[in-house]
Amino acid sequence: MITATNISKRFGDLEVLKQINMEVDTGKVIVIIGPSGSGKTTLLRCLNLLEQPESGSLTIDTQTIDFRDKISKHNIRNFRRLSGMVFQTYNLFPHFTAIENVMEGPVIVQKVKKTEARQKAEGILAKVGLKEKADTYPYQLSGGQQQRVGIARAMAIDPKVMLFDEPTSALDPELIGEVLQVMKQLAEEGRTMVVVTHEMNFAKEVADEVIFMDEGAVVERGTPFEVFEQPKEERTKRFLNLLK
Ligand code: ATP
Repeated sequence: MITATNISKRFGDLEVLKQINMEVDTGKVIVIIGPSGSGKTTLLRCLNLLEQPESGSLTIDTQTIDFRDKISKHNIRNFRRLSGMVFQTYNLFPHFTAIENVMEGPVIVQKVKKTEARQKAEGILAKVGLKEKADTYPYQLSGGQQQRVGIARAMAIDPKVMLFDEPTSALDPELIGEVLQVMKQLAEEGRTMVVVTHEMNFAKEVADEVIFMDEGAVVERGTPFEVFEQPKEERTKRFLNLLK
């Protein structure tokens, strides 16, 4: 379970997140939508402590951080292990093979033995349909395959929540489906997921809750049916109309 309370974040004079509240129950999928610049990526990065909000608090599983306190690097590292981040541009290590990318977190961060980490990584790669590509380098893989390695890498540390930052937006249209398929499978297995995406069909099919953000604030939230079919706020209606 994740609880984010009154998360606020500025970049200089720009108030990028304004008192965001969010709850994600275990096993649920939350999809965040909204126009460019509305703060979706920044919110996700705050959940992973890649950005540190000025105020608010965050609980993941049994650990809580109050952002008004000074937070040690040790605490940041520990907290970051609770979530697995999947980036828009994959962020794989280019000089590591697919399986080495997946093993890296367990071996370096969790101090798991290499043989054990390799065995586990093989299983995860098989799960994302890349068993045959274990010893391949990222440059030898398609964008869709690289992103599936990115997902496998995020899964490898057994995170309490998986965070996806527009995971398909850098992909050619014909490669998007294979990545969404893996994400659907993870959702069906009951993983807790927060997904920033422009893939509205994915949101409609998979989300338990949709959050619509604009200008750093949550404008509307509800089930996919409520937000997509019966939006209450004018701002949400305008945004959805633009997508038609
Ligand atoms: P997109 O859909 O285009 O990715 P977004 O909703 O994810 O947009 P963010 O990337 O969170 O939006 O950006 C929110 C605002 O914060 C934007 O105005 C952006 O320019 C600004 N911003 C983001 N990161 C930084 C940074 N490191 N320094 C300064 N401003 C930033």
